[in-house]
Amino acid sequence: MTPENKTFDKFAIAAALQEIARLMELKGGVSRFKARAYQTGARAIAAVAGDVGRAIEEDRLTSIPGIGNALASQIKQLHLTGSSSVLEGLRKEFPPGIIELSSVPGLSNAKIAILHEALGITTIEELKEAATAGLIRNVKGFGVKTEQRLLESIADYQRDNKVARRFHLHHAQRIGQQLLDYIKTARDLEDVSIAGSLRRWQETVGTIRIVASSKQPAGLVEHFLHFPLIIRVENQTDDSCTVELAEGARVFLKAVQPAQFALALFWETGSDAHVLKIQELASRKSLALNRENLKMEIVRTGKARSATSRMRLPQAKNEADIYSMLHMQYVVPELREDEGEIEAAVRKALPEDLVSLADIQGMVHCHTTYSDGKHSIEQMALAAEAMGMKYLTITDHSPTAFYAGGLKLDRLKRQWEEIDETQQKVKITLLKGTESDILSDGKLDYPDPVLEQFDIVIASIHSRYKMNADKMTKCLITAMKQPVFKIWGHALGRLIQRRPPFECDIERVLDVIAESRAAVEINGDPYRLDMEPRWVREARKRKINFVISVDAHSTGALNNLQYGVGMARRGWVSRSEVLNTLPLKSFKKAVRPV
Ligand SMILES: [Zn+2]
Ligand SMILES: [Zn+2]
Repeated sequence: MTPENKTFDKFAIAAALQEIARLMELKGGVSRFKARAYQTGARAIAAVAGDVGRAIEEDRLTSIPGIGNALASQIKQLHLTGSSSVLEGLRKEFPPGIIELSSVPGLSNAKIAILHEALGITTIEELKEAATAGLIRNVKGFGVKTEQRLLESIADYQRDNKVARRFHLHHAQRIGQQLLDYIKTARDLEDVSIAGSLRRWQETVGTIRIVASSKQPAGLVEHFLHFPLIIRVENQTDDSCTVELAEGARVFLKAVQPAQFALALFWETGSDAHVLKIQELASRKSLALNRENLKMEIVRTGKARSATSRMRLPQAKNEADIYSMLHMQYVVPELREDEGEIEAAVRKALPEDLVSLADIQGMVHCHTTYSDGKHSIEQMALAAEAMGMKYLTITDHSPTAFYAGGLKLDRLKRQWEEIDETQQKVKITLLKGTESDILSDGKLDYPDPVLEQFDIVIASIHSRYKMNADKMTKCLITAMKQPVFKIWGHALGRLIQRRPPFECDIERVLDVIAESRAAVEINGDPYRLDMEPRWVREARKRKINFVISVDAHSTGALNNLQYGVGMARRGWVSRSEVLNTLPLKSFKKAVRPV
């Protein structure tokens, strides 16, 4: 891991900071709090654009968010010498292999130290061997029973680790970006891309898949294996490898010759169902998409016995070539799920103008310090303005959401005054809105005369997730039939990997929305991403309009926009169906409550 010249690049520094964080966690007590700072620092340094050496020379480290003076001094030492005083000190306090061994449940630091002293154990594999050979029972303080329990814990641990952890989209994306930055430093690299479920904007990602091309694919794999955050190599061949990173993420790299890049990217992007169906379609046209040699061929089976002839087609230069050779529309990665996109592409019926990030003109669904947001109206306004937005809707919570600082009328009035004051100082147009709770009887949370004064109303369910489906359906139908125009916020209330969508007859609710003054939100908060694409498509069938929202509780969360756009594209939504692609005047008109 240590380069010969001893100086550490940003990734090696990040790995060392993570080691410090882990050792501090193991030390426990106050060190635990410091551990968190090192963890944050590791992330921050790996994410620095360009060369960290420059930042050190120019004394700019502490201007990076997440890096204070203490951390900066450790980073400098690591960069210049390949080690740091804190890291060396911690390493001296623990036996070697402590980080790996401490992941076995029930094995304390003290026990690890004793086992190291007595048997020289530094890895889980060595521990397993010693226990199987019956050596541990003879160590002072251990016995036959402890030995047995250790073997069971190791088996548990190894089984749990096989069940790959799935990462939320935004975490997978951050890790993927770090990996791309690193791979781009490889010599002879021609092309590199994220593939797999991350490229298809799935809510969670099991394995981060990457495809890269070079005239020396084996050299790319070698280079990749030097990525300092790799803690385990699961599998390695001449042109691919699967590894585990310190954070627990699983990464697969496929390295190919430049001419094979397009087909490799197509295969690795998936989904399996999409690729399989494309393959069947090809074979009906006497074409073969060959996964082994990554070539497309014309296959003719003659009537005589063995006569199968193969003829090479020109290499696909990009994925679009593959689809055009099959006489169909190009299918973007977000749609490749075998949910009707192949049939539509053959009929040339896929929407041509899928909504994209550049189409969005306004940030919808933003919270401020008036309710449970972290930043002020002005901070949110300036941040959205810096992102090129033309308008921003301030939609803090309504009174019933008291736990989230919902605004009673007096505070609401004060907020409107502050919005007016702020408007004088910023170019972006601020719209006054609310995220109004939908109450149990389906009413909204402010009296009608107040609702009518807003520029925009988002209506959301924030409690009673366990209400029975009938009651919930009725409640939603009543809400959507309210005469004010409203947007159905984070529709089914799901929290990814934490809370399933609540139960209701969604198709009936969509039927009512189609007839009412309402639109549907596609929520970009990476923990929500509500509604799912299949429901978005159901809404589209009914000609319902959408807004793509950020549900931002901080300026940083304005970046949620990309996830909302990803979800909308997965639902086949085109630009003309999204209200916040409209210029200010038309948007205001479209969402005006009365
Ligand atoms: Zn909400
Ligand atoms: Zn919200």
